[in-house]
Amino acid sequence: MLVEATDKETRFKGLPLSPGVAVASVCLFNEKRHMSLPVKDITAQEVRSEGDRFRKALATVRERLTLLYKEVEERVGKAEAEIFTAQKMILEDPALIERVTDHIRSKNFSAEKAVISSLDFFEDQLAKMDHDYLKERASDIGEVKRRLLDALANLSPSFQCQNDFFCQRGKNRIVIAEELTPSLTMELNTDYIKGFVTDKGGVASHAAILARSLRIPAVSGIPGIHDRIFCGTQVLVDGDTGEVIIWPSPKTLAQYPQIERPKDAEVKAVPPIPGLRVYANLNVAKRVQEAVDQNAEGIGLYRTEFEFLIAKKQLSEDEQYERYTQVLKAMKGKPVYFRMLDLGGDKGADFLEFPKEQNPALGFRGSRFLLGHPEVFRTQARALARVSRHGRIHVMYPMVVDLSQYRLLREKFAAETSDLPQGEIRHGLMFEVPSACLDAEDILKEADFGSLGTNDLIQYLFAVDRDNELVSSDHHPDRKAFWTLVRHVAQAARRHRKPLSVCGELASNPVYARKLIALGIRTLSVSPRAITGLRIAIKNKPEAVREKAIRILAVRKKSKSTKKKG
Ligand code: PEP
Ligand code: MG
Repeated sequence: MLVEATDKETRFKGLPLSPGVAVASVCLFNEKRHMSLPVKDITAQEVRSEGDRFRKALATVRERLTLLYKEVEERVGKAEAEIFTAQKMILEDPALIERVTDHIRSKNFSAEKAVISSLDFFEDQLAKMDHDYLKERASDIGEVKRRLLDALANLSPSFQCQNDFFCQRGKNRIVIAEELTPSLTMELNTDYIKGFVTDKGGVASHAAILARSLRIPAVSGIPGIHDRIFCGTQVLVDGDTGEVIIWPSPKTLAQYPQIERPKDAEVKAVPPIPGLRVYANLNVAKRVQEAVDQNAEGIGLYRTEFEFLIAKKQLSEDEQYERYTQVLKAMKGKPVYFRMLDLGGDKGADFLEFPKEQNPALGFRGSRFLLGHPEVFRTQARALARVSRHGRIHVMYPMVVDLSQYRLLREKFAAETSDLPQGEIRHGLMFEVPSACLDAEDILKEADFGSLGTNDLIQYLFAVDRDNELVSSDHHPDRKAFWTLVRHVAQAARRHRKPLSVCGELASNPVYARKLIALGIRTLSVSPRAITGLRIAIKNKPEAVREKAIRILAVRKKSKSTKKKG
């Protein structure tokens, strides 16, 4: 909604997604690039035309790189232009061309699939080398892949900057996009992004969760912002109020003395506190150190699907095994809850050819997806079983709807891994679909543990889309029905003496955290950067913990005295 417009400064009011304030030039993200690429198998009749498409893309990229070289050499210098020579050499490498054409010809891959599989292969090879220069070349291969895919899709570069050289690909910029999808968020180098502004997206969307966990200010719900802005426009994003100010005046800027995003180092970790276990939510293995640095007492939710979304492909058993082992080892014996792939919904993946669905949030996702893709399930189950040889693991099934589905998942896991030597594996589920919560008594009789996924639970309980900014204000837990359901699951867990945690976003809010503690839930799993704040808040105001302890003591005393009397 446009709230005020002046000659110089224009203000928009949107939905605050992630707190903090940032000022920077903007990068307009080209959404078209994220349309599904035809990464697929082709028929024998199509081999020839796919080969032609690849050769045409090669020529386009070659021409583009030559132009870029000339332009940058003239405007900046020869040394800076050399990067494009390096990319051209990669592009013209006979081994690379041969591999792509061979994949089209003998494996019947589409040009896109052949480019991705071949260039990923070379990139992986270089990335593994113990040589800094060669490692750097691996990122050039990634860049060449991007250029080829753009050429195959007839797209201009992903950022609509004046030209590639000046394009920062979001670095030190505020990224403006129509929607912050999980794959877009994972694709960008978020270490350097200053902020996000989007047309669409709800507070509980995965992208908003990621932005908050990375401490990147973000605002959504500003339709048409693309049309008001050019690449390079200066913008202020206020993730606390939802304000977005285009060309902020010096007077406005003076009202925001604190505009830097807090550095990791400023988040000083505190030790665990009595009465509450705080675990970390983790999206990718390579960030596990953040959890360790924050003294996380475990990993309460490892969203393994993000490993796939970043890699943009199905990971092999070995690739999964490597990542999962890295996490388990880094946590040194502390519990790790590996959530099996929760793909589908807003986490669709081109490489898995999802069906086009009218209503993906209610469709082929989570455990339904896992059961419908036996190969994907088998590969992940086997990787996890192998990981368990290094220490006890927790396997958590996503979006389970009832006991019979849980049983099916567990039986399949056992069947797919029965021939493998394995260590201790506990099986449990996410309580995030209301029907499973209502069935908690029966389910927790059998399952080893449960974890409340309140992001989806709120979505499905109140029929409120977590990704839709228009109904975001309705996606909240301040309703009796929600707490009745949470209490029901907590009681079932207590009765069956099964561990229960909460890994949804609300666990990091001290007000709700206290309510959960008061219901007897003693394990909360939050983003690593929220751990310290949560511990401090609970430690400084532990009423709920204390009240609960007093109540338990009173009940114990009462039961002792009744026993004596008896
Ligand atoms: C949830 O739904 O609360 C949850 C933790 O899982 P995700 O946010 O990944 O859907
Ligand atoms: Mg969920």
